[in-house]
Amino acid sequence: MKRAAIAAVILGSAILSIRCGTQPAEPDVPLSTPPTTNVDNDGGGTTTPDAAALPLDDASVTRVDAGLQPTDAGIAARTSSIGRTVKAEALIDTDSFNPSDAELHEFARAANNLLVDRADVEIQLVGIRRVSYAAVKATLNPDAGRGGVSMTKVLQKIYETSTSPELLFFMYADDKSTSFGGYMIAFEKPGSCNRFKHPGTGKRTIIYGGAIDWKHMYNACGYDRTDPRNPVHVRSVSGGGECQGRNGVAFELNSDFSYYQCSPIDHANPYNANRFSFVAATGVHELLHNFGSNGNLDHFGTAKCDEMMGGQSYKDAGAYVFQRNAGMCPNIFERFKQSYEECP
Ligand SMILES: [Zn+2]
Repeated sequence: MKRAAIAAVILGSAILSIRCGTQPAEPDVPLSTPPTTNVDNDGGGTTTPDAAALPLDDASVTRVDAGLQPTDAGIAARTSSIGRTVKAEALIDTDSFNPSDAELHEFARAANNLLVDRADVEIQLVGIRRVSYAAVKATLNPDAGRGGVSMTKVLQKIYETSTSPELLFFMYADDKSTSFGGYMIAFEKPGSCNRFKHPGTGKRTIIYGGAIDWKHMYNACGYDRTDPRNPVHVRSVSGGGECQGRNGVAFELNSDFSYYQCSPIDHANPYNANRFSFVAATGVHELLHNFGSNGNLDHFGTAKCDEMMGGQSYKDAGAYVFQRNAGMCPNIFERFKQSYEECP
């Protein structure tokens, strides 16, 4: 039950960790990547049940042609100085969440602004797709291929007959996403071309992304997470590792977020900038994991990151440098940026 709290703690205490020159203890790292998740190279192997019964074709997708335009919520989209974009889709598991299109646009803009800042790449939200993950999964033969019906196979099924994005924000609640905030996902779509080439395999057919807990709380206080999918506000002060491990801290209701955070709320923290910024950072974080090769050691401030960055001076690049890098080593943003290559 305490993983989410610990993750929030580590995120909240990042600056402290950086100053100490230490790295977060594993596996209690922020926005963790599960070690077992990686690109599935079996190329699919799904059976072909009645796809017509499912809203899997392009007709089910809300096409977003206007790109990232500001709305009344007011997050303005930053633009890439080199005109570089990554085409993203928001895939919503309708059994998990029900965000509005407007909210998803705000989320995408918050993620866009972070990625533009660190990699000079814009997130172009090209679609919003709403699907019952369980319903799609139920159509697949559980005996097909190795290991039954993996998430890879379900995602491949969802995108089997439709245009696929380069980046996928999959809003999905399972124990893993709700504990950690999110985890990296990737799957292959044969015949597709991603302009961001996988640095490890050189493949162009991989769709990168993250399974994301849309309702993940940042620096939350007073919650019982026995059921990580449904945290309940039960305590009058912090406990269970909340508030940087300081039990007994008072909380404040963050009215913008509609949940309780450790007091005093640090409004200068980029993760508190708006109610989308923390979840957006999770999305960028999980995307970036696809371009690292060291799993959790690709996080900001690890010894491996120091090695990749040729020292520790990157940790001194201004206030909230951890949050501005979404908890990832700056080198991984560079690897993502450099992986770009036009499709033939
Ligand atoms: Zn991570």
